[in-house]
Amino acid sequence: MVSKFKTNKYKPLKLNDLKKFINSKKNLKKLFKSTSNLRVKEVGDGNLNLVFFVENNYNAICLKQPLPYLRVLKDWPLTLKRSYYEYEYFNTHKKYVKNHFPKIYDYDGVLRSITMEKLSPHIIMRHGLIKGIKYNSFAESISTYLAKTLFYTSDLYLNAESKKNFISKFISNTELCKITEDLIFTDPYSVNKNNRWTKPYLNKMKKKIEKDEKLKIVISRLKLKFMKNTDALLHGDLHTGSIMVTKKDTKVIDPEFAFYGPMGFDIGALIANLLMSYFSQTGHERKIGERKKYKKWLLETIKTIWDKFEKKFLKLWETENHGDAYPKVLFKKNSKKMNLEKKMYMQNLFEETVAYAGAKIIRRIYGFAHNIDFEWIENTKVRANCEYKASNLAIEMLKNTYSFKSINDLIKAAKINENMKAKL
Ligand code: ADP
Ligand code: MG
Repeated sequence: MVSKFKTNKYKPLKLNDLKKFINSKKNLKKLFKSTSNLRVKEVGDGNLNLVFFVENNYNAICLKQPLPYLRVLKDWPLTLKRSYYEYEYFNTHKKYVKNHFPKIYDYDGVLRSITMEKLSPHIIMRHGLIKGIKYNSFAESISTYLAKTLFYTSDLYLNAESKKNFISKFISNTELCKITEDLIFTDPYSVNKNNRWTKPYLNKMKKKIEKDEKLKIVISRLKLKFMKNTDALLHGDLHTGSIMVTKKDTKVIDPEFAFYGPMGFDIGALIANLLMSYFSQTGHERKIGERKKYKKWLLETIKTIWDKFEKKFLKLWETENHGDAYPKVLFKKNSKKMNLEKKMYMQNLFEETVAYAGAKIIRRIYGFAHNIDFEWIENTKVRANCEYKASNLAIEMLKNTYSFKSINDLIKAAKINENMKAKL
């Protein structure tokens, strides 16, 4: 796999290289009818990569190219191989969920670029949530997305050999996994120069986190699970900034963190980001109570996502259980014991989801990379108030995971924390 890359020929693309690049590739050239009037623009609002749009009146594409370092922190070197995993993630899952990805046109093994459809009029979901826009088709789409991507790459569907082949394809995405291992599971719980939080209001809470041995045991267990578990092929960074939406359509982008890991990590990432959106809403109100209905919609959406996910995942398990796990020959159709086992499986997955969601919230409030949901709240005291409530719930989700028996318990706890007084 690595041998097809010619590292020495890689160079970051400049705006005026793009026309030549497109003309050099038949499959890209033909997307435009004529390439004489192409408009090119660099957009890159992301943290890691170069992103360009190339368009004419006929078509529009998006080209993403990794840089050999982290864009936001140039002294942080980062492998170019990450775009290969991004491309392979799209490739692996496109059989089942291609309507939830941009169309992928090209992967260039030298420049490591991915060329895809430019999504339009889609916007980054996080931006929409900050504005208070409701996406009523989202829960349906993303629950299908989660159920299919997770089920079809698991042992419940694949035979042991295919599953191991998939694992081996993604096993070397170690640098990106290491970012997660440090930034999510270690740094926020220790004293580290990369950490940041809303000072001085959250100083006490940060200290409490550093001193809480039980919390540190829990986060270490989650880290270990993240490192050793190979349940399914995960997106690895499924937050609302990796999802582009319209009212009717949902597209997932940016799977460069793809790896085989615990399913609850992807579901948890999504739920954590919707919860953070919920807790940030009062900070975006122009009038007190303005976002009340919207907050209700957010919680309903979280509940619907889990409920639909569970139903769809179980349906796939019932109808397409071709994998080597729980061999069909061992169980009668509608076996009571097996139905009970499936129930327990989903219960464990729910608890795993709650715990990883808690971890995702803590890292966005006390770690290196923060969310604009909170960051765009200008009044720091108001922001700290929102962040306090979110982190208080997150700590509960981590330390008392088993007290969350169902999605209703999580929704209830979110409301209780939202209505309490923050101790700043
Ligand atoms: P990074 O990993 O550097 O964050 P992303 O894949 O998230 O890169 O892309 C950065 C930004 O580029 C996105 O936030 C989005 O605004 C834009 N973008 C990425 N892919 C597309 C696409 N297919 N269509 C339209 N815009 C896109
Ligand atoms: Mg990214």
